[in-house]
Amino acid sequence: MALTMKVSTPEETMAIGQRLAPMLAAKDIILLDGDLGAGKTTFTKGLALGLGIKRNVKSPTFTIIREYQDGRLPLYHMDVYRLEDGSGDELGLDEYFDGDGVSVVEWSQFVADELPDSYLRIAFKRLDDQGENVRELHFEPHGQRFITMVQQLEDGQNGK
Ligand code: ADP
Ligand code: MG
Repeated sequence: MALTMKVSTPEETMAIGQRLAPMLAAKDIILLDGDLGAGKTTFTKGLALGLGIKRNVKSPTFTIIREYQDGRLPLYHMDVYRLEDGSGDELGLDEYFDGDGVSVVEWSQFVADELPDSYLRIAFKRLDDQGENVRELHFEPHGQRFITMVQQLEDGQNGK
């Protein structure tokens, strides 16, 4: 079961993250893949809003990990683009994945070896030929928990 959504503004991308947030629990892992500027951090801002996080979510590009503790659940926001091969271990990614919060990982292909079996991957794609703000979000759930979650997201989309 996979789901594709098309959006045409940053606000729409945020709104999807915001809708996903109430479904999340500790130890959930959301992987965000797609080119620079595709909307991964924008989506995370919406997700943070949905978790009730008041702090401004900034891209963790240079810090690799930023933690937000002021919401319903801790948010561990990671951008592993600059991580060198295999150094995910040293960073202790496992402890975040298995921690008390939700892990959101941008550029997850760089830590593919460290990933558990159950996670939600969202692939972001710019559809430039349809307008400069048009994006496609492709939801790819791994494991029953996330299959159900994506189903709920789709039902919500269809007003069910
Ligand atoms: P990434 O984290 O994937 O590199 P960002 O979310 O940091 O991308 O940046 C996306 C940029 O594209 C932002 O400046 C945002 O305002 C803009 N943008 C335009 N349309 C969209 C859209 N539909 N969804 C998300 N971002 C969009
Ligand atoms: Mg980003």
